[in-house]
Amino acid sequence: MFKILVIAETAGEDLTTSTLEVCEAAAVLSSSLGESWGMLVPDHATEAAGKVAPDVMSLGVGEDRYPGAGQVASMIAQVVESTDIVIMAATSTGKDVMGRLAQHLSVPLAQDCTGFEVVSGEIKFKRALYGGKVVVRVKLSGRPMMASFRPRSFTPIASSGGFVKAVTCTVNRVTPKTSVHLQAKAVSERPDVTEASIVVSGGRGLRGPENWHILEDLLDALGPDAALACSRPVSDDNWRPHSEHVGQTGRAIAPDLYIAVGISGATQHVAGIARSKCILAINKDPDAPIFKVADYGIVGDLFEVVPALAAAIRDTS
Ligand SMILES: Cc1cc2nc3c(=O)[nH]c(=O)nc-3n(C[C@H](O)[C@H](O)[C@H](O)COP(=O)(O)OP(=O)(O)OC[C@H]3O[C@@H](n4cnc5c(N)ncnc54)[C@H](O)[C@@H]3O)c2cc1C
Repeated sequence: MFKILVIAETAGEDLTTSTLEVCEAAAVLSSSLGESWGMLVPDHATEAAGKVAPDVMSLGVGEDRYPGAGQVASMIAQVVESTDIVIMAATSTGKDVMGRLAQHLSVPLAQDCTGFEVVSGEIKFKRALYGGKVVVRVKLSGRPMMASFRPRSFTPIASSGGFVKAVTCTVNRVTPKTSVHLQAKAVSERPDVTEASIVVSGGRGLRGPENWHILEDLLDALGPDAALACSRPVSDDNWRPHSEHVGQTGRAIAPDLYIAVGISGATQHVAGIARSKCILAINKDPDAPIFKVADYGIVGDLFEVVPALAAAIRDTS
């Protein structure tokens, strides 16, 4: 059994981009510590796993592809005995599974990490606190060490091209204490907000859901790598789905470009977007706090500025 284990999250037969990022973290950890790494993957994604990981353990989930976090954690707990480090992406599913797995194994967990450092063979996991103002380095006692990593904290690992043979492991299924009801995810051509390189985000300044076509038009001008996000009051008022809400209580993102439209820039909002490489703010109030964290700012009425920006992007592309 390998010492560093990545728990895969899948999208159909493929691995998610955030899982490929965690594989990169595993590869770096492996070369720093001189330990082997591999991946635990549900059997339907074994082939995809074999193209990126040096070792693959395939877990037979059969027809039940979405057994629920409780079931998944209890199955994983049966195969991690000789593992030193267990890592997974800090997506909603990842946080759910890792929390339950840590409880099964009675070990501490560093959730939602943004990186790690290895000094003299000792690992310290980095976690952002107080909206990213403080970074703490967490040393974990107990084995295995468990950590989840925020999406876009690492570049996705490249495919090796070859296919590694997987070892199939058999585990006992426990009777679940909860039942899982699947809700069909809205089909979108757009990337997930945590994985997009450009994010256009709308706040209360848009006045209502009927005005979101302005942002969608900007999104179309920016191309297929752009995704939509929103501030919390916007999702609280059901103008947009909760999955688009970014911030302290929403999703934490780190795109190359974040465009905040009609968003004041409250600390709770900034907590989830501060890792963006470049922030452009559009707001009619020159004193809006968002301008303090923005790299570029446009002071003006969004209903004039955003269509003009979309037209300018189309003119230059
Ligand atoms: C515990 C807690 C957790 C929270 N978590 C989150 C979180 O995760 N994410 C989050 O976003 N918030 C969160 N909040 C809420 C946060 O404090 C703010 O209330 C919220 O972010 C404000 O949203 P907003 O910027 O869309 O709205 P507002 O603060 O109302 O700002 C609207 C902005 O639009 C501008 N504007 C208005 N009209 C126009 C126009 N025509 N053109 C250009 N600009 C215009 C205004 O100048 C203003 O700056 C949390 C709050 C608490 C207490």
